[in-house]
Amino acid sequence: MSNLINTLDQFEQCIGKALSYVRRSCEQDGKTNPGLLDQHQQVVSDLAVSTAELQCSRHYLDYASSRGDIEQKLSNCFAAESLHNIRNRLARHPQDYGLEMTDVDALDLGACEGLLSASNLEALGRLIVSSNGDLGDRGLDEEKLLMADTFRQFADKVVKPLAEDIHRKDLIIPDEILDGVRELGCFGLSVPQRYGGLLPDDREDSLGMIVVTEELSRGSLGGAGSLITRPEIMARALLEGGTEEQKQHWLPRIAVGKPLCAIAITEPDFGSDVASMRLKATPTEDGWLLNGAKSWCTFAGKSEVLLTLARTDPDLSLGHRGLSLFMVEKPAFDGEEFEVCQDSGGKMSGQAIATLGYRGMHSFQLFFDDFFVPASHMIGEGQGLGKGFYFTMRGFMGGRIQTAARACGVMQAAFEAGLSYAVDRKVFGKPVADYQLSLVKFARMAMYLGASRQFTYAVGRMMDDGGGQMEASLVKLLACKLSEWTSREAMQIHGGMGYAEETAASRYWLDARVLSIFEGTEETLALKVVGRSLVEQAG
Ligand SMILES: Cc1cc2nc3c(=O)[nH]c(=O)nc-3n(C[C@H](O)[C@H](O)[C@H](O)COP(=O)(O)OP(=O)(O)OC[C@H]3O[C@@H](n4cnc5c(N)ncnc54)[C@H](O)[C@@H]3O)c2cc1C
Repeated sequence: MSNLINTLDQFEQCIGKALSYVRRSCEQDGKTNPGLLDQHQQVVSDLAVSTAELQCSRHYLDYASSRGDIEQKLSNCFAAESLHNIRNRLARHPQDYGLEMTDVDALDLGACEGLLSASNLEALGRLIVSSNGDLGDRGLDEEKLLMADTFRQFADKVVKPLAEDIHRKDLIIPDEILDGVRELGCFGLSVPQRYGGLLPDDREDSLGMIVVTEELSRGSLGGAGSLITRPEIMARALLEGGTEEQKQHWLPRIAVGKPLCAIAITEPDFGSDVASMRLKATPTEDGWLLNGAKSWCTFAGKSEVLLTLARTDPDLSLGHRGLSLFMVEKPAFDGEEFEVCQDSGGKMSGQAIATLGYRGMHSFQLFFDDFFVPASHMIGEGQGLGKGFYFTMRGFMGGRIQTAARACGVMQAAFEAGLSYAVDRKVFGKPVADYQLSLVKFARMAMYLGASRQFTYAVGRMMDDGGGQMEASLVKLLACKLSEWTSREAMQIHGGMGYAEETAASRYWLDARVLSIFEGTEETLALKVVGRSLVEQAG
């Protein structure tokens, strides 16, 4: 393993050299020029993904170093594969990265020798199949293991039996799930105890929220696993920018899941470009009138409060400094469309957008027409004017690590489904799981799942120590990509049945597909969030 660590160090230096090259190429007056940086998009994206793979490998190896045989084998193979991926990327055209072919040739893969051979991966796959998918120690303390166990049971008993119906009939999440999640205290995981939640007052506890999200997402991404994302984003935004009175009012309610809440940031014309949002908020007596549209507001029907980003200053040249954040109240609706009419004549209407997967919450297109919001509902009130963008970003940081946890949950479900089908299904006289090609797939699925999970936990711990901002985006970027591959292969292992609606495998794949689109698209994270800060930090 120490050889692999040395190799990671060597690769990291090479990536650092490439980042410095990009920085030099894009520097103007001592700053990184965004226009120039855009001319290196492919390179920046490659370097961001490579950094994610390097960091993930390091955390996985570190975790495995004090654990058993299976953890060590999986982490070694994951690191070896990451190193090969990175080298292949750089070798395509080293000059793009400011490197010479000799720099790439100097990247010594000797420590990976044999790790990715067909026979080694086959043996690893056999170990995984014979242990029924056991990836070894989860790396959690007793308290978190107990949480994981409780929510795993809830997912098995309550969520899974309803998950197929929710997906195939495009139902709204039934009360059995919502009430159960409320009773288990899920909505309070990001709310400090002093405001009625479960989060300790004196420290962060991202790991609890991560573990719960993972287990619920294993049951169903849209039917349970994404329920805590909204309160997480809303609570973080309120804690960051809310007045004490707002915190006292809203947080205890969010913590018990009454009201349910939704996040309205995206608009029909702007998604990735949050700073350009246009929904107009015009001051009026005692409050604001909202006019314009939002799109993709998930769970907007059932929710009674929408965290809504609006432009409070019409001067567009202010960009993100013209935005403020509102708690917009409305009644709950179960259906796929709704309309709210205020006595003052204001109106809000919603229409669900039909989607391929991620069903259970319905994502809405919203229209606001002179919809009145009291002044007391702007986060931070007078102090929050023009700070909506910052509060939103604070909320998103929690949303990203949570999305990595959602990816782990979907991956776990797909992996389990693929494994159990392959063991039962016989082709040409023996189980699908007995063939080398399947065994190699299971080895890869196991290492992707183990690596994503341990990276997610590691970043959760970093966030609890006050850091991890960029890493939350790194792990989201990587885990979501890996969950797509894993669910694709789980579906493939099912043959024709993988394409049938009646097997859960098709749902896992459809659900996994959305993870790289929301909470920051793969491209936005790689270029704007991770890539840019890596370039700026480069020596
Ligand atoms: C099922 C679902 C649920 C959602 N739920 C919510 C929700 O609850 N609340 C909410 O506010 N939003 C929600 N969203 C919206 C989601 O966050 C946005 O779809 C996402 O931010 C992308 O925005 P966009 O769709 O406008 O794509 P665009 O921003 O138009 O991007 C189009 C493509 O261009 C790429 N791109 C963007 N910028 C660049 C660049 N600089 N260089 C190169 N490529 C670039 C993008 O990565 C993407 O591939 C949801 C979306 C989906 C699909």
